[in-house]
Amino acid sequence: MKTLLLLVCSACVLLTACTQTTNTSQSSDLDALLWSTASAESDAISLQVYAQAKRQLDGLLANPKKSAALEQDDDAEKLLPAIIVEVDETILSNAEFRYYLMAQNKAFNLEDWQEWVKESAAKPVPGALQYTNYAAEKGVTVFYVTNRHVSLFDATYRNLEEAGFPLNWGEMQLLMREAEEDWDWDKSSRRAFIAGHYRVVQIIGDSLGDFIATSPDMTPAQRRDKSASYIDFWGEKWFMLANPIYGDWESAIVGSSGGGAGGINDETRAKYQFIRGGESQGIW
Ligand SMILES: [Mg+2]
Repeated sequence: MKTLLLLVCSACVLLTACTQTTNTSQSSDLDALLWSTASAESDAISLQVYAQAKRQLDGLLANPKKSAALEQDDDAEKLLPAIIVEVDETILSNAEFRYYLMAQNKAFNLEDWQEWVKESAAKPVPGALQYTNYAAEKGVTVFYVTNRHVSLFDATYRNLEEAGFPLNWGEMQLLMREAEEDWDWDKSSRRAFIAGHYRVVQIIGDSLGDFIATSPDMTPAQRRDKSASYIDFWGEKWFMLANPIYGDWESAIVGSSGGGAGGINDETRAKYQFIRGGESQGIW
């Protein structure tokens, strides 16, 4: 009996191991998800970023020559001030959705994503409410620039409103992908649109593309060089939140199909290939 039990248990362990390895991408995402959502350290980084942004804001408002948008013309001095904040994993946390995917052993997919967004249930990232409301009290218009599709406008707007983000100018503050013809994945055209009417004093995001024009064919080394070249912007006009769960940093390694149907093992393989070639990728 004991031997049989042992055999059954071994089979169970094997089966579990096999099931787990069918979605290796998920196990590699596990620590990223837990760190981002359950660690005091992650909260502290968000609080630190938003507290620092708040501290820098008054000085920038007092200096009308300063702009955070590369798309801004030189004569922005007379324009009213604005800030640009990105949405997902910058001011709203989709932790609950990511936990759902992990628990269901599912990769990211559009159907589940849309269903989640329609719940308007994403919680604010620590520090984001204090920062945006402080800016609004100072007369700064807060623009929310997101690559959520415009078909999710109502649900996204409701989520922002119910979470307590300032929307004193209403729907014009939320700029979603494809709301206008040239508002595509690259957010440059939306930054240019805002900069045409306002002086953009700060930008907050969790991806390089939230600040500058990027292209999908940029290598990780090119992205890092680009980031380093704006050292004068970071910490005063630009603020980056940490997002180790997903983002363009990842697609720069695995390609845009990574994580999609059938792409899971390819994605992991691409990551290991990148690590093996670490030195040649300019990592150290
Ligand atoms: Mg984001």
